[in-house]
Amino acid sequence: MYTEFEKDSAPSLENFLKERDIDTVAFDIDNTLLATHEYYRQALYEIGMDVAERNTTSRRAEDIATEFIQIVLDEYKRGNYRPILMEEQCESALRRHFGDSLDPNLLQIVNDLLEDFYTTSPQRYEATPHVLQVIKSLGAEIVLHSHAQEEWTRIKAEDLSFAVGFTLPYLATDITEEKDSSSWLRALQLIDRDISKTLVIGDSFTSDILPAIHAGCKHLVWIDYYGTGIPKGVEIPSDVEIVVVKNIQEILKLK
Ligand SMILES: [Mg+2]
Repeated sequence: MYTEFEKDSAPSLENFLKERDIDTVAFDIDNTLLATHEYYRQALYEIGMDVAERNTTSRRAEDIATEFIQIVLDEYKRGNYRPILMEEQCESALRRHFGDSLDPNLLQIVNDLLEDFYTTSPQRYEATPHVLQVIKSLGAEIVLHSHAQEEWTRIKAEDLSFAVGFTLPYLATDITEEKDSSSWLRALQLIDRDISKTLVIGDSFTSDILPAIHAGCKHLVWIDYYGTGIPKGVEIPSDVEIVVVKNIQEILKLK
């Protein structure tokens, strides 16, 4: 009953998969299924407020916290959006903020605040469970592939599995390694599926879309949150199809 209902709710997606002979969907996790960016922002804001409370200037705590977030995000951008451990990210932001006057006690306080950061899953986007359930009901296999530590990825995958009511297999590519074409292939090997019959869905053009194409993927969905469009100078092979969407919910409207 449930399966049939779900199936009927996304007839165009069913056609989309069938017409392309797609039997598997491989998802990036962070900022594709989970609001990880918001999770970081929230944690950074809380840390920033804590830092602000120890500041002796007359500036508003909110302003200091916002500035702290900005410093961390700038560092992240400078590192070409490569994931960095939160502790390291905060430490370098604090060093930039305070310079030589950085109090070592403050570093300790920040590290204590971060203790739970990697033991909790970021929130799911509202549409995430439904999208996963519909895909499963259409008979496609699902695999998840993150660029994060094994332990944190396990927590996220378990949380998602609980929400959808079935087990979601996952591959965690540690942040000390590259999320590249071979890791995308490993994710598919995990469930014994062929990447040429897989739809890869992710928000990072450089660590999801491009490496999956290099691995032999022909059908991809890129979640382009910022509307930047496919980077100029990147040549997409003529037999590769990239659908650009704004968020995970739009997967249900693929046709
Ligand atoms: Mg991502």
